Order: sequence, then C-alpha cells, then structure tokens
Amino acid sequence: MDYTALANLLFPHVSETPEEIEARFPDRNTPEGAVITRMAPSPTGFVHLGNLVQGLTSERMAHRSGGVLFLRVEDTDAKREVPGAVEVLINTLKHYGISFDEGATVDGDSGAYGPYRQRQRAAIYHVFAKKLVSEGHAYPCFCTEEELAAMREKQEANKETTGYYGPYAVWRDRPLEDVQAQLQKGMPWVLRFRSTGSIENQFKFDDLVKGKLTITENNVDHVLLKSDGIPTYHFAHAVDDHLMKTTHVVRGDEWLPSLPFHIQLFKTLGFKLPKYVHIGPLMKMDGTSKRKLSKRKDPELALTFYKAEGFPVEAVYEYLMTLLNSNYEDWRRANPDAPSDEFNFSPKKLNPAGNLFDYAKLTDVSKNEIAKMDAQKAYTLLTEWANEFDPDFGAKLIADKDYAVSILSIGRGGKKPRKDLATWKEAKPYMGFFYDEYLEAPVFDEAFSKETIISALEKFISVYDENDDSAVWFDKVKAITEELGFTTDMKAYKADPTAYPGTVSHISTFIRQAVTGKTNSPDLYTVMQILGKERSIARIRNTIENLK
Ligand code: GLU
Repeated sequence: MDYTALANLLFPHVSETPEEIEARFPDRNTPEGAVITRMAPSPTGFVHLGNLVQGLTSERMAHRSGGVLFLRVEDTDAKREVPGAVEVLINTLKHYGISFDEGATVDGDSGAYGPYRQRQRAAIYHVFAKKLVSEGHAYPCFCTEEELAAMREKQEANKETTGYYGPYAVWRDRPLEDVQAQLQKGMPWVLRFRSTGSIENQFKFDDLVKGKLTITENNVDHVLLKSDGIPTYHFAHAVDDHLMKTTHVVRGDEWLPSLPFHIQLFKTLGFKLPKYVHIGPLMKMDGTSKRKLSKRKDPELALTFYKAEGFPVEAVYEYLMTLLNSNYEDWRRANPDAPSDEFNFSPKKLNPAGNLFDYAKLTDVSKNEIAKMDAQKAYTLLTEWANEFDPDFGAKLIADKDYAVSILSIGRGGKKPRKDLATWKEAKPYMGFFYDEYLEAPVFDEAFSKETIISALEKFISVYDENDDSAVWFDKVKAITEELGFTTDMKAYKADPTAYPGTVSHISTFIRQAVTGKTNSPDLYTVMQILGKERSIARIRNTIENLK
C-alpha cells in the first residue's frame, strides 16, 4: 500500500508539516518541576461539583509549582453545545477562586498556544492525521452505521468483545482503489487508528492518584476523526496536550478505560506522555449504600445549587479541601487563620476510590466559616445573595445598613462565636423578625392563660428601661416572675413542677415571643437593644391587644 498516496488522497488540502505546526508552539519557559495543566470541559452549560474538584486539583497543582493553568474548550460535539456555556463556566469557577492563566475567554482567547476551542483547531489535527496516514498508522473506514451495528450484534452473539479490531477491522487493509472508488461516490468516512497492540500484552503504569496500574494494550482501531473532520476526544487530547505542553492531565477516572489507547497514541505520534491524575467520582450515601452523585437525582451536584442555597464560597472551598486532602483538617487546626493557599496540596492524597460527599459536614464547615466572618463581611455576602435570590429582603438590608450590621453582630467576635447560620438562605428565618414586615404572630403555650401572659407583659412594659444593663434587665424579669408566683429556682421546679405555675424561663419566653414572634431567638436583651425601646414596646403592646 502506498501510504503517501493514501494520505494525499484523504487530505489534499493539507500542505503544512507537523514540524511547521510544532514551531508555532514553542517550549514554555517555566521553572523545573512546574506543572502545566488544563481544564478541558465540554461546553454543556452545566457546571458541577466534579468540575470544581478537578479545577481545584489542577489549580493547586499548577499554582503551587509555579506552573500554568489554562482553559481549553472541548467543543467537538456540536450537539451538546449550549450557547453561553463558556461564560458560565469561567464565571462559576472564578466565583470559587479558580482563575485561568491563559486559554479560552468569554469572547476569544488569551495565550500563545491557541486557538483554545477545538473546533477552531481542525486544520492542526488534519496535519497530524495526514502524518499518521502517510506512516501507515491510520486509515479511512467507510462502514455505515448499519454495518457497525450488524458487526456488534454478531460479536455479542459470539460472546466476543465488541469493537472494531482484528478480523472486524474490515477497512484496515483495503486497496487504494477501493478507497478511491468510495471517495468518488462521495461516501462519508472516518479516520481510524491502526492498532498494533495485543490484549495478550500488559504493562505497568503509574497514575498520580490511582498508583501502580497494570494496563492491557489496546487492540481496537478507534476513530481519530469523525466524518465531519472533527477529532474524537482521544485524538484531540493527544495533539492538544502535546502542543500546549501539558505536563499533567487531571481528569475524571471515567477516562481510565481509554488510557491504553491514549498511551499508544502519544507513542505513535512521537509525543512525550504527560503524567495522569485520574480523580475518582464523588459519591453519596443512599440508604446504606454508596453511589455516584447523579445529575438527574441529586440537585447538590450542580454548583448553582450552592450559590442559590447561599453557601459562602469560602465554605465550599474549605470543605472540598478537607475532602480532597485527608491531612487538610489537621493543617487547618494548626493554622486557623492561614490562607488555604499555604497548604501543601498533593494529588497523592486524593482517595483513589473517590470521595463521599457529606452534606452535613459541608453544613458544619459552613457554620464555622460564617461564624468566623466579621459582621461587615457577613453583611456584604448576605446582601449579595439576597439581591439575587430574595430581592425583597435584599432591599431591606440595603435600606438600613447599620441596622442590619448590628443584627449580624450578635454573638460575633470573641472566642466562641455563635454558629447560627450555615447558609445565607437561613438568614431570613433567623433574623427576619427584626423587620416588621417579616414579624410573625406569636403562638403561646396553651398551658398558660391569656391573663397570665398579658399580666407578665404589662408588668414588663412598666419596668423596661433601655438604659439598664443586661444584669439589671434580667433582675427585673426575675422580679416579675416572683410577683406572678412563678419561680426562679429551676431546681425546685424540676423537683416538683406542680408547686409553681411556671418558671422565669416561661416569663422570658412570653416576652421573647411578644418581641420576636418566636420561642427561639438570639439573646433577648441584645435583640431589644437593637430594635430600640419604641419598637420593642410597640410589639409587646400589639401582642397584648391581640390576646385580649
Ligand atoms: N472534555 C473532557 C471531559 O469533559 C475532558 C477530559 C480531560 O480533562 O481530558 O470529560
């Protein structure tokens, strides 16, 4: 077979040589040991936690080593493409602190190794495809869908491995005339790799997460170019990661089965193989068993979910670090205030089997993160969230910033800050009562008569002085307690609850409910200080009216 003639027949328009292409992608002048890596998503518009895990791992590896993180858009499957997806991806990752040093941007490219959108690189792939054909490593296949389906059926019936290999690779050695005849008829074709591998042969391979793997050679003549001339993931991966000087490929382990082919492809093309970091899946507990997080079943897979719930970015980031590197939590305990960038992130610490995503743990981490913030920061982030997801609440927060900040200051600072909120979504149920429009009518415990409650509230109004400190304030509540025959002696009440109508805690709850509408609230003395005397007393009066 005259492979040069075949190559010219298939790629008459390709005149560039691989050397000329190589010259356009010079070596990067990065320091020894620098990790050059990339995110290479398909622009489907859906950004999920897995993307963030991969992005975070890549970003840490690149930036801790003085390397480069770039974004390449794998848009070879036009059917899956969603307009605006690149923008969504860039913005979402940026929101989580992952910025690219080069690559695809919202409206173009930045960097010397582009284009960074694969469909724009078709001419480049064709140069390498032509080279492979001229060396006898690739050939056109004119099989129709029906023929391939029939082949598959036969293989299944014979209990053989399915695929285009060995005797099933029917176009592998067809004479040039057959190819010419098909081309003349205008028949569509794909370009296939001519595999020389054998499933009898195995070799060892080191993956940075999975460790030592035993790999069986690939014997399938996989497709390199589809009938529209656009490459498959495999071929584009080899050509792009070679030309873009990728040193480490960080990707999901669903690609492991393709690894034998990728290794073979790099070798045949004469490219140096990058290192591989195959990340295991994110899983969750479903009843008593683990399963992969699923786009269909689990809303918490989508990054938009965390934004809408109002998990601060810091919390999601912090949680993912604890998930990805088992020693992160110890490091954090020893360095409570250090920026997480200082942690020595290592892909070797990733769990090869994947990680169990624990929503309750995320919630705990988030409570800590929010508790650590000062009131100003909490205000800024809460307002940002509310403006997007609860504009009415957002408007209230903005209308009186000092008021909102003083509410958010409750229990903040000090050694043991209160951990009231895990998400910004929880803020309105927690502090909404500070705004008259969100105040709910109290529902009192039916064990107490209206008269008792009214009398406690009236007594409180008559003694309340906003200039009292909290000790004096509480003494007054105790005095009311005793005047009504209730007790301040909790032990005595516990020992014999029938001896008293109730305790000081019941009396405080009446006042709390009248002021906040709820049985639970932050420290009532402080709440009333923030609300102000006028508003607090008006609320209590209003409650009395409603009880009458
Ligand atoms: N486009 C592939 C994906 O989204 C990229 C895998 C890789 O990083 O190489 O799964």
